[in-house]
Amino acid sequence: MIFDVVVVGSGAAGIMSSIKAASDKKSVLLLEKMPKIGLKLKATGGGRCNITNKLGLEDFINSFGRQGRFMRDALSEFYHDDLIKFLSDIGLQTHAPDGFRVFPLSHDSKSVLDVLRAKMKELKIDIKCKQNVQKIERNSELFTIVTKTDKFQSKHVVMATGGLGYSTLGASGDGYRFAKSFGHHVTDLHAAMIPLHVEDKWVKNCRADTIAKVTLKIDLPKMQKIHKTGDLIFTKNGIRGRGVLDFATEVTPLLDRYEKVPLLANFTKGMNENQIQIFLKQEARKNSQKEIVDILQKILPPSLSQEICSLADVDCVLTYSKIPGFKKEKLIKLLAWTPLSVIGHDGFEKAMITKGGVVLKEIDPKTMQSRLVKGLYFCGELVDLDGPCGGYNLQWSFSSGYLAGCLLSA
Ligand SMILES: Cc1cc2nc3c(=O)[nH]c(=O)nc-3n(C[C@H](O)[C@H](O)[C@H](O)COP(=O)(O)OP(=O)(O)OC[C@H]3O[C@@H](n4cnc5c(N)ncnc54)[C@H](O)[C@@H]3O)c2cc1C
Repeated sequence: MIFDVVVVGSGAAGIMSSIKAASDKKSVLLLEKMPKIGLKLKATGGGRCNITNKLGLEDFINSFGRQGRFMRDALSEFYHDDLIKFLSDIGLQTHAPDGFRVFPLSHDSKSVLDVLRAKMKELKIDIKCKQNVQKIERNSELFTIVTKTDKFQSKHVVMATGGLGYSTLGASGDGYRFAKSFGHHVTDLHAAMIPLHVEDKWVKNCRADTIAKVTLKIDLPKMQKIHKTGDLIFTKNGIRGRGVLDFATEVTPLLDRYEKVPLLANFTKGMNENQIQIFLKQEARKNSQKEIVDILQKILPPSLSQEICSLADVDCVLTYSKIPGFKKEKLIKLLAWTPLSVIGHDGFEKAMITKGGVVLKEIDPKTMQSRLVKGLYFCGELVDLDGPCGGYNLQWSFSSGYLAGCLLSA
């Protein structure tokens, strides 16, 4: 049998492509190398699946940086309202408990997969798991898709093989290899959305402290403008938390060039040196006997207050007035920007996202079709786009999968 389309990979992108193509009466074969479909989708959002968010289109596009404008056509075709309506039509209710991030009402990613699976069954999509695609070739008008055990033929191929993160959930990087075999280029690939390891031993003493609204910036020439603000959690050898995961995207490529990447962290919810000085003086005036560590605990967790005192070489039981002037200055500087040195990360195995992918200029954003090979489509994380935490990456996978599944030609 010659299929209208073979979709390789059953993540959010591949599933949505299959559903769209089958809804348009195309015969669809979905090939997945893992024993079950949608394993990564099921693991998203800590098992709760943050499907999308409520951001306006322009802001959403900007969240993906300079590359974001590539997404305009796909998002215009199928954005969050379309996704939420589609899911509702197939039986999944969603909500946004914080008014921004959208989850299934059940808060269980399995319920998302269940309705998608039911829809695929209704559309008679041929799903074959444990089919590890080895090679894709194009001979005259048809593609031949070779797996370890079988060969399939189709008029179109949608590549939805995802990135390199979490191989236990199916990531393999095969899609990059297939893309290259068709003459496509792939950018450098980096682990992104990943906890970072730091050289600073003191962080382990602050383990399990979650600090909100921490601003992180890169302390390298011409890079101080790169900053992110969000939650930070100290670990035994580094930092994690949503703010760190988003910021890691900026840091991991630098680790290829530098042994260490110096960061500066503001743990005081954005207070600058002047504001910190005013705060310390005010607190000391309110209670002249208060130890500096107790004053700091008004704005920092106890363990971090102690560590910052010791970094400034300030005895934490001193009152503010007893601290020598030059040490006060050092303390204030450290409170405004605490240095951290990133020396590594958890590796691709723990990377929620891959930064980089199939080069965008070789893909037509109006169709997601290859500009080099007619009938070949790309979607999802496989292409050179990565967004922050908060439903951005799944929305992109669903939107690009939908557009690819339209099987449009320029
Ligand atoms: C733990 C975790 C939590 C996350 N949480 C969120 C979240 O809450 N919200 C959000 O927006 N994003 C989240 N993300 C990111 C998001 O999951 C991904 O960006 C998105 O799932 C990518 O979808 P995809 O369809 O492109 O790829 P994938 O979901 O990775 O699917 C690719 C599929 O292709 C298959 N495949 C690969 N090679 C082959 C081959 N040779 N033959 C056959 N099949 C193959 C793989 O087995 C896999 O099933 C999370 C990621 C992780 C790892």
